[in-house]
Amino acid sequence: MKRSDKSAAPRSKRSLRYYVSIYFVIFTVIIIILLWIFQYFFLARYYRSARIRAVSSVGDMLVDSYSSNDIEGGMIRSAFDNGMCIVLTNSSGALIKGENNLGSLSYFMRDRVESSGYYMHQLKQELIESGQRELIKIIKNSELRSEEIIYCRGFTINGDQFYLYIEASADPVDSTVSIIREQLVYITIIIAELAFIITLFISKRLSDPIVNLTSKAKKFADGDFNVKFEERGYNEITELSKVLDSAEAEIGKVNQLRTDLIANISHDLRTPLTMVKAYAEMIRDLSGDNPEKRNEHLAIIIDEADRLSNLVNNILELSKLESGNLELKYQEFSLHDKIHDILTRYTLLIEEQGYDIAFEPDEDRIIYADPEKLDQVLYNFINNAINYSGDKKIIRVRQLNRETCTRIEVEDNGKGISKELLPKVFDRYYRGEKVKRDVVGTGLGLSICREILKRHNFAFGVLSEEGKGTTFWFEIPLTPKKD
Ligand code: ATP
Ligand code: MG
Repeated sequence: MKRSDKSAAPRSKRSLRYYVSIYFVIFTVIIIILLWIFQYFFLARYYRSARIRAVSSVGDMLVDSYSSNDIEGGMIRSAFDNGMCIVLTNSSGALIKGENNLGSLSYFMRDRVESSGYYMHQLKQELIESGQRELIKIIKNSELRSEEIIYCRGFTINGDQFYLYIEASADPVDSTVSIIREQLVYITIIIAELAFIITLFISKRLSDPIVNLTSKAKKFADGDFNVKFEERGYNEITELSKVLDSAEAEIGKVNQLRTDLIANISHDLRTPLTMVKAYAEMIRDLSGDNPEKRNEHLAIIIDEADRLSNLVNNILELSKLESGNLELKYQEFSLHDKIHDILTRYTLLIEEQGYDIAFEPDEDRIIYADPEKLDQVLYNFINNAINYSGDKKIIRVRQLNRETCTRIEVEDNGKGISKELLPKVFDRYYRGEKVKRDVVGTGLGLSICREILKRHNFAFGVLSEEGKGTTFWFEIPLTPKKD
């Protein structure tokens, strides 16, 4: 497959402009060829049938006008307008009226002069024998060197029988043909020129935005994330530039995130490592013989090592969650059991450090979620409440049963989060500006919560007022929606 793709590649090397031009040239040539074919092969045939129709309708018109006594005027006008020879006779062939616009070489004229109307008589007989209303024939007039339409029609007025004969040329008049040909040459030249101009215009209009987009996309590919695609022209190009713009925004974000991530991780890793190294050196050089100091320093080293492993674990956890590689292990379990279980782990804090952590339950509900992941969310919310609540040590975990969901809130009476910073708390590596280093934290906790809740399809959020406290919440739907 791949090989055939490669072999096909050189074919698509030609530009859009080339293809548009080629198609347009082909289209124009076809139109011109068609025009000439019609002119040469079909004009005579078309002309002949139009002439036959004209002769027949002149015949009808003249017969009609006989009753209104204007056949003479009609004959003169028709003969003149259409280049015809028109003869009206009675039943015995005697001439009543004749109008000749074909000159002395007219068939009827010569018939009358040279054979006393023998041919016309023959025509009449033929018409009578055929039993039809009119007779139309094409004959060759060797004198005029053209083909002619011969028309014969019988009609009765007030009991008297009359015959109307019409002779007309079946070939287009030479001058008409040459005028049409001349026009055709002009039309051909105009079409060719127009086609050339339109091709230039269309191909430019089609390819310019693409060429522009391509050159911008090249800059973008070289790492310039400030390129604005914003190309206008036609719908598809506008759509494409919109897509490219949003792709650029996304890639720009990812790029920024990557840069931040590396900066943050290296910073976060470097700090504990520096501490570990410094205290290890201190033990080696100074406190090695002083058990009290040594233990103090060792405790710091252990603390920092914990911080490091915490950080590494969190990074791994978050990347697993974000890449979607982590399968949730859904289970049904009691909400009350879960929260009680979590809160028992805080008894030491409650007793020793005076924290007031309590659960405000509603009626128990069985929920459907990944219990371990839900633990992580609740731990992080409660730990944050403890770490950032300052002196006010009241923390409430609240259950609110709603019609379609169960809402869980973790509320503290701490310092709160400012309005500007509130939208950022769930972001990776966001840590409040004044968080002291002694508050163990990686800044990844809430990002992990966000990913876990998103994967569960739980709604979640945070409400906070500076100085009053913060409430983190999420809602577990009654009918679980799996992702
Ligand atoms: P980790 O949870 O990984 O140990 P962390 O607690 O610093 O680190 P997050 O849980 O993501 O990171 O919290 C991000 C930041 O949001 C915190 O550093 C803190 O500034 C702010 N924050 C979170 N919860 C609260 C709260 N209840 N009150 C005030 N600020 C908070
Ligand atoms: Mg936290």
